Amino acid sequence: MKIECKNLQHIYNKSNPFEKIALDNINLEINTGEFVGIIGHTGSGKSTFVQHLNGLLEPTSGEVIVDGISTKTKVKTQIRKNVGLVFQYPEYQLFEETCYKDIQFGPKNLGLSEEEIDERVRWACDAVGLNYEHMKEKSPFELSGGQKRRVAIAGVLAMKPKFLVLDEPTAGLDPIGRDLILSQIKNLYEKEDITVILVSHSMEDVAKLCNRVIVMDNAKVFMDDKPNVVFSKEDELKEIGLSIPQSTQVVRRLKENGLEINTDVLNVNEAFENIKKAMEARND
Ligand code: ADP
Repeated sequence: MKIECKNLQHIYNKSNPFEKIALDNINLEINTGEFVGIIGHTGSGKSTFVQHLNGLLEPTSGEVIVDGISTKTKVKTQIRKNVGLVFQYPEYQLFEETCYKDIQFGPKNLGLSEEEIDERVRWACDAVGLNYEHMKEKSPFELSGGQKRRVAIAGVLAMKPKFLVLDEPTAGLDPIGRDLILSQIKNLYEKEDITVILVSHSMEDVAKLCNRVIVMDNAKVFMDDKPNVVFSKEDELKEIGLSIPQSTQVVRRLKENGLEINTDVLNVNEAFENIKKAMEARND
């Protein structure tokens, strides 16, 4: 199964003075099994792009095809089943009296039996680390910010999507809430076989989690490659206002200052190992 974008273009306010090309000729494929990070400066087109993946927005021209079905189709049920989209600040869209009702909203609309719905709500609560019994009768409005967000994510997961698209899922959370959500997303990818597409401002998170990085700039795909390849292009990223992970920066600075070191590093552990090796080689 895959998502294909063919000559995808999106223009807001077409043919009026506020016209804005938000996506310009995007051509790419996302296959199941990938963990894709999407990075780019504010306004580069990331949110507009991900809202095309489940047909929430339709291309002005070109096409997005999910498992063989164009998102321009009138009946989008199959596409919404396959691609779950978690918006920025998804908790603002909680509206039911209880968490249970909110999480079951999607599966109920699919016409599943009560038992199937209940099984999915339990699974989704578990996947985001919420206690089903404890949450069931609670109003989402009684919960903390991080818990509300996890209820909102559970609502999307309850549709059992093959592709999970998350637009800045950790925005505004404290470090503990952040780490919790990221580890749950990692778990979903590794244990539940869900393909993940993650929009993030954190180069560290993208370097740590993703096996492919799409860099957007000014409505276009600027780079699309493996994390170590993308983050080796420090100067090009700098030109479009992006940095590289701090651990990569450290080893690059050491190399610039004369240390013979392998700079292919994406996290603190790898940086530590390479610095150790370089120092040992120097002392020999
Ligand atoms: P990002 O997610 O990278 O910050 P967006 O996709 O939100 O980028 O925005 C891309 C461009 O489209 C920006 O110039 C933004 O101002 C514009 N834009 C986004 N949403 C709308 C909208 N609903 N109406 C008009 N312009 C929009």
